[in-house]
Amino acid sequence: MRFDIMTLFPALVDNVLSESIIGRARQAGVIEVETHNIRDYSKDKHRRVDDTPYGGGMGMLLAAPPVYDCYEAIEKKGKTRTIYMSPKGKVFTQKKARELAGYDQLIILCGHYEGVDQRVLDRIVDEEISVGDYVLTGGEIPACIVVDAVARLKDGVLSDPECYENESLCQGMLEYPQYTRPYDFMGDTVPEVLLGGNHREIESWRFKAALELTKKQRPDLL
Ligand code: SAM
Repeated sequence: MRFDIMTLFPALVDNVLSESIIGRARQAGVIEVETHNIRDYSKDKHRRVDDTPYGGGMGMLLAAPPVYDCYEAIEKKGKTRTIYMSPKGKVFTQKKARELAGYDQLIILCGHYEGVDQRVLDRIVDEEISVGDYVLTGGEIPACIVVDAVARLKDGVLSDPECYENESLCQGMLEYPQYTRPYDFMGDTVPEVLLGGNHREIESWRFKAALELTKKQRPDLL
């Protein structure tokens, strides 16, 4: 799967997506991530890409032409979806990550300043996605969140699909608590049922623990 990120700060995205599991998946060619600097498409001699909003108001807006030209320069491959990271979008969920993993290519536009001229959004964007009900300075961190959540669902990114199939939010509940060695940490020991090797009992304990945790922390999921 291929991710094309349109941004004014390519290094911000590249640095985050070059580390750890996603970085290794890129190196192995399991996923491709390409950043595109919107500024490279400015026709202004000072490489300006923003301007003041018509009608007045605070801040600067990303102008339509460089964003559109940047989008046009991206090679489209197979089943493609274009996303604008925006606090006005629908809030990102695991379900949406699964849906987006079904595309061959995601083109992600990161806004900055006060946002982006609506006319280019209307022309190129299939959907707007928010990472939560708060406002950030730019769409780069939200884009990294989407790439990370989608990429890890692709074959070959994680060692085993079971890694994500049993996780929080995948089964409509949060994941049960987990423990590793040492058995005794500052007087707190691991629940005995996990040591016995009885898989049915372990499954049953995990289900109950997951249910309790979900009731307590995210009753809205139930
Ligand atoms: N004026 C815009 C508004 O009120 O909706 C906010 C602009 S914000 C300061 C600048 C950019 O950050 C946005 O264009 C968007 O790309 C990104 N951004 C900010 N908060 C976000 C969020 N919760 N989810 C996704 N992207 C966000």
